[in-house]
Amino acid sequence: MLHPHLWPDTATVDDAGQLNIAGVSAAALARQYGTPLYVFDEATLRAQCRAFRQAFESRWPQSTIAYASKAYLSLALGRLLLEEGLELDVVSVGEMDMALAAGYPAERLHLHGNFKPDAELQAALEAGIGRVVVDSLDELERLEALAAVRKQRVAIWLRLCPEIEVETHAHIQTGHADSKFGLSGNRGEPLEAVERAIRSSWLDLVGLHLHLGSHLRDMEPLRRAVTWLGEFAAMLNVAYGVNIRELSPGGGLGVAYTPEDHPPDIEAYAEAITDALRAVNADFHLEPPRLIVEPGRAIVARAGVALYSIGPRKVTSGGKVILAVDGGMGDNIRPALYGAKYHAVLAERVTGLALERVRVVGRYCESGDTLIDAVKLPAAVTGNILAIPVSGAYHLPMASSYNLVPRPVVVFVKEGHVRLVRRRETLDDLLRLEREE
Ligand code: PLP
Repeated sequence: MLHPHLWPDTATVDDAGQLNIAGVSAAALARQYGTPLYVFDEATLRAQCRAFRQAFESRWPQSTIAYASKAYLSLALGRLLLEEGLELDVVSVGEMDMALAAGYPAERLHLHGNFKPDAELQAALEAGIGRVVVDSLDELERLEALAAVRKQRVAIWLRLCPEIEVETHAHIQTGHADSKFGLSGNRGEPLEAVERAIRSSWLDLVGLHLHLGSHLRDMEPLRRAVTWLGEFAAMLNVAYGVNIRELSPGGGLGVAYTPEDHPPDIEAYAEAITDALRAVNADFHLEPPRLIVEPGRAIVARAGVALYSIGPRKVTSGGKVILAVDGGMGDNIRPALYGAKYHAVLAERVTGLALERVRVVGRYCESGDTLIDAVKLPAAVTGNILAIPVSGAYHLPMASSYNLVPRPVVVFVKEGHVRLVRRRETLDDLLRLEREE
């Protein structure tokens, strides 16, 4: 049967052993739209937004959930997030434009990124972006110069590097001493940034931000980081009389990818953050700041299911069974990039006896193109549909057209209805930018 912590809330298996999402047959979707196909369950997306809002607002009323768009963004998702009352964290003008096209007011967007080129800062100022999260002294200087030319006051947060290690893959740690992100404490950068911001007529220092990393499963470093952030705000208050009105400990809550994973839930995450914030606030008698939390993965991951068609089957001389599917590292780079693990079922035989241990590989010309190293499935044949859960985060936004294979189709499902939210990329799309001058 299905492990509920891996599948969308509406996923069910019918008497024939078929996987359904929001009352729609996964295999029928795969045949209608073709594979690879990404299916998002709207009910799960909304439930995750509400769970985050409720967990934080009930503990810290001045809380805002700002979804980290980098995990996955589309017009359809942007509209849904807006309806659910979330703000958005964007890391490029591309993500900003998508959010604006989805109807987001610019003042509800926060622009992150360790290198925001001048043209992007300029575009953000023109749009009237809500917050620019300044990552370096270089950026502070460039942003101030651009704001001065426009005679436009801009609200900023400073991204600080707390030099706290977390247990996650090295590629997704972001707050450790060696990180490329944020102003580094031991070099005096944060204080220099604060002093420059205070002196500036165009920069309004409203908040402090940090982000430890993604897919976090241990809440202890997060507690320390929140305390550290609060202490820094208190020190600025004493030393410079600055009132830091907003604190953001980033995002990063991990999710389960396999039946064996059991990361902390949203409640435990909210409790860790707000408990630490309450304590540091009380210690230093601070005005309660607005708390901005930026979950990405934990909102979208479980809502998305990737469907593939199974193709050739190979048995190695060592007796290993290898199943090839019609997607792979082009639509899901995470196993190759981070050694990420996944689970899978056959969409039409979920209840079949999973007696065969297989390796699931993609169609790309790389030996590293393995989606799942080992999973047990009923004996599969060409044409069967493989469903991989927890595919909603960091697949599509990191997708490439490697080997000139077009990127997948995306549909949203809700109460028995399907809507296409992104058509499959075509070869024409891929050739459109080519020139023979
Ligand atoms: N906020 C910032 C600044 C980030 O860099 C990231 C991702 O790395 C996030 C939020 C979202 O992280 P996650 O998707 O793990 O919640």
